[in-house]
Amino acid sequence: MNLENLGLTKQRRAVLRVIRESDEHLTASEVYEHARLLLPGIAFATVYNSLRYLKNEGLIGEVRFGADCTRYDRTLKRHDHALCNGCGKLVDLELSIPDGLIKEAAKRSKFEPGSIEVTLRGLCPECRI
Ligand SMILES: [Zn+2]
Ligand SMILES: [Zn+2]
Repeated sequence: MNLENLGLTKQRRAVLRVIRESDEHLTASEVYEHARLLLPGIAFATVYNSLRYLKNEGLIGEVRFGADCTRYDRTLKRHDHALCNGCGKLVDLELSIPDGLIKEAAKRSKFEPGSIEVTLRGLCPECRI
């Protein structure tokens, strides 16, 4: 996808570039720190609004942990994560989710099913030493 053809403002392009070029799952403040290097003077509110816009346009993904912790993801297709309890590192992985699992989750919660993701919580290799 050519970034020049999306009709994005330069602020939104900078934010999108930060997400696409990172192999981490950045928080809004981390995206802001990187975006400032590309566009000095960009405001945190602009970065935040750009993240919302890019998310709504389906250009970036979002991983939410509770109400107040959101990280942004360059991987758009369904995938799973492992989260380190020691250092907070979040890595992508892909599991094959059995068809029955989403149905069972929907049945137990009485929710209309949308998608299902698995998060493994534990210790990453660095924290296990
Ligand atoms: Zn760790
Ligand atoms: Zn991810």
